[in-house]
Amino acid sequence: MIERILPNIYRIEIPLPKNPLRVLNSYLIKDHDRSLLVDTGFNLEACQIAMDQALAKLGINMEETDLFITHVHTDHSGLVQHLFRPGISVWMGEDDAELFQSNMRENLFISTAAKMLHRSGLLREGSPYRPQEEATARYADRAEVPINVVHEGDKFVRGGYTWQAVSTPGHTVGHMCLFETGQKILIAGDHILDKITPNIGLWSFKHDLLGLYIPSLDKVAALDVELVLPGHRNIITDVRGRIDEIKQHHVRRLQDVLQALGEDKKTAAQVAQRMRWDLSYRDWDEFPLNQKMHACAEALAHLYHLVVKGQLTMSEEAGVLYFQTTS
Ligand SMILES: [Zn+2]
Repeated sequence: MIERILPNIYRIEIPLPKNPLRVLNSYLIKDHDRSLLVDTGFNLEACQIAMDQALAKLGINMEETDLFITHVHTDHSGLVQHLFRPGISVWMGEDDAELFQSNMRENLFISTAAKMLHRSGLLREGSPYRPQEEATARYADRAEVPINVVHEGDKFVRGGYTWQAVSTPGHTVGHMCLFETGQKILIAGDHILDKITPNIGLWSFKHDLLGLYIPSLDKVAALDVELVLPGHRNIITDVRGRIDEIKQHHVRRLQDVLQALGEDKKTAAQVAQRMRWDLSYRDWDEFPLNQKMHACAEALAHLYHLVVKGQLTMSEEAGVLYFQTTS
């Protein structure tokens, strides 16, 4: 499905089969010289067909179209290789560009997930982890293509609009949005979503992601945005209202984590299984491993933020991390 949002701005619906997000919103900024396509869908046949058909209908030649990828997740970057043509540019924020490039060399997700599963206490070291169950490992194309790093303030003049890159770390470290000051439009990737809260999950300890995410929300709240074009679900008009809701969600989540942790030291897996989850399983044991892993990543993002804030301590025993409130 193609929706015309404003002259030269189109939303292309890319189906995400068997994924609770259902659809990725790809945005095309059509230009008589060089068009710009923002985000792509998974490296899956269903996504390829939907994208190819939409581009044909819109009269788009990929040899004259650049790609802007808001972040590295495969629902946004999976078709980069399929769409790539020599001479075009593929723009991505620095940290995500690095991840995308190293994933062409080794399947980064599998090694990162295996490490995280062990450190969170979810799986004992050496326990079998079957990455084929994890969609993210499959939905990336690993052919080598050149990537261009986009920086804060970089400008793209396309379709009669001037789009400015805005760095919004949190959902990923290299997450980037595009802001059009004239029409006050933000192409938001997964920084701000309607109805669903962007997942903030920690898979390594290089960054306090939640500590990055909240200021990135405040940064967008301070911009003069009237229309948010998100990576999934509905277009958002009450930007500040939605940002407030997302911030409140994380305040509640931090309280949940502290309550689940209690007095004794616990692993992230032990905290995650005591937290409330808005899922249709009866209890933690029924969660598929994939769900448990994402729950642990979310618990870890909040636990680690509290460590950085000095409210918790983090210690390591036999490679497993333990958290405890500071007395
Ligand atoms: Zn997404």
